[in-house]
Amino acid sequence: MGKKKSFERPDCPYYYEDYYRGRETYACRLIERNPHSRPWKPSLCATCPVPRILRETRVSYLALEATVTRKFFRERVEIFAVCTKHLRKLDNPLICPDCEAERAAENQ
Ligand code: SF4
Ligand SMILES: [Zn+2]
Repeated sequence: MGKKKSFERPDCPYYYEDYYRGRETYACRLIERNPHSRPWKPSLCATCPVPRILRETRVSYLALEATVTRKFFRERVEIFAVCTKHLRKLDNPLICPDCEAERAAENQ
């Protein structure tokens, strides 16, 4: 849960907000699943790679884990990506080499 500052809402399925009796609640459903992460705050969405990954990935069975890390006094969202079909860690979350090989074989 984070407190709101003025920021642009991300176009992200993990972003959650709720207004109830004047109380505002904001959350990132992805980061809050990760007990090893530093806490989320809305300003992290501005530089988070997740919305773009979800828009552009070719991996149909993509699982993401997100962690807030801090380097040089700046926090950012780091992603760990897996293709759950091939149980393979993806260095590039946009492409799974095994999925691409299957696609190539199907198109032959
Ligand atoms: S931090 Fe990233 S994953 Fe979480 S709500 Fe913001 S844009 Fe989405
Ligand atoms: Zn795959």
